[in-house]
Amino acid sequence: MYQLLLLLLPVAAISGWYAGYRHKKSTENNSGIIPHDYFLGLNYLINEQPDKAVDVFIKMLEVNTDTVETHLALGNLFRRRGEVDRAIRIHQNLIARPQLARKQRMQALFELAQDYLRAGVLDRAERLFLELIELDGDVVNSLNCLINIYQQQKDWQQSISTAKKLESVSKVNMDSAIAHYYCELAEQSRYDHRINQAHEYLKEALHYDKHCARASIILGKIFIEEGEYRQAIQSFRRVHDQDAEYISEVVASLADCYKQINREEEFVDYLFERIAENPRIYFILAMADHIRDNQGDAAAIEYLSKQSHRCLSMRGLERMLNLYINSVDPAMKDQLLLLKEFIDKLAENKPVYRCVHCGFSGKKLYWQCPSCKRWNSVKPIHGLEGD
Ligand SMILES: [Zn+2]
Repeated sequence: MYQLLLLLLPVAAISGWYAGYRHKKSTENNSGIIPHDYFLGLNYLINEQPDKAVDVFIKMLEVNTDTVETHLALGNLFRRRGEVDRAIRIHQNLIARPQLARKQRMQALFELAQDYLRAGVLDRAERLFLELIELDGDVVNSLNCLINIYQQQKDWQQSISTAKKLESVSKVNMDSAIAHYYCELAEQSRYDHRINQAHEYLKEALHYDKHCARASIILGKIFIEEGEYRQAIQSFRRVHDQDAEYISEVVASLADCYKQINREEEFVDYLFERIAENPRIYFILAMADHIRDNQGDAAAIEYLSKQSHRCLSMRGLERMLNLYINSVDPAMKDQLLLLKEFIDKLAENKPVYRCVHCGFSGKKLYWQCPSCKRWNSVKPIHGLEGD
């Protein structure tokens, strides 16, 4: 790409100069001699000093109606290459020209704002995008970029109001993202011990997206902190109907809540129901834990052995090994410990979550994918290597 850019620059510079020369020729005397700078630039290129060459050619580029597109294309190329300073200079150079048509000025402003966004100069980028919206230039893209900025700044109130504006002009449904912004506010309030405020934000999150499993998970955690285990159970159980992919995140908390109110038999009924419907390993492991606590290791091993064919997984195998290790003779135990060490090592490098949109994977649950920036797209990995 850079080689192409280096070839394009002298061509753009000479064609820009020629367009300017033709224009001047019709109005005044002009010698038509190619400027000295052009040869200086070529000289830098030949002597493998591309940075100096680029600067000379940019200085030479005349802005007129014939070369605006070239400027914009070059600016874009520089930004994509990560040379944001040069992209900014090209776009600023364009904007400074009074003869620029309105459409081209808007385009150059949008590009310059994107340069600042890429450079991380968020306040300048924000000002330019706001100016573009005010001038009615590329409103939808500018609102999208503003949301990007507010999300980076963790300014969730601004993210909410901008998402609502975007929804009204583009008709794109932003409810799921808005629900997550309220969840972010709720998390912050919970952290600051402003629990009533957190409840209000979570109510808003569920108002915008009744399938927002994250809101129910946060609500369940708050109820546990308040000692309201029945309500925590209600919140956690709602996760299954909202987005069943996330139920694995709350099974352990559900088990704890039922234990706290001495209603473990209700939890067993719940597990039976879930396993009959969809035998996920985390339900089966929770059941095995209950059996072990009440009937001992042998009963838990028997249960796991019967169930293992229904959902093979590394975690299930690991749990079975743990149970076996406690109940076999010492010679066998050493061999099993070796096997367990091997499985632990295998599991250590396996991601637990994966983005269904871009494939980003890791061991931590992100509600907004760090790679593609989508909300709610990072899900627990199920199956042999997951759960
Ligand atoms: Zn992603």
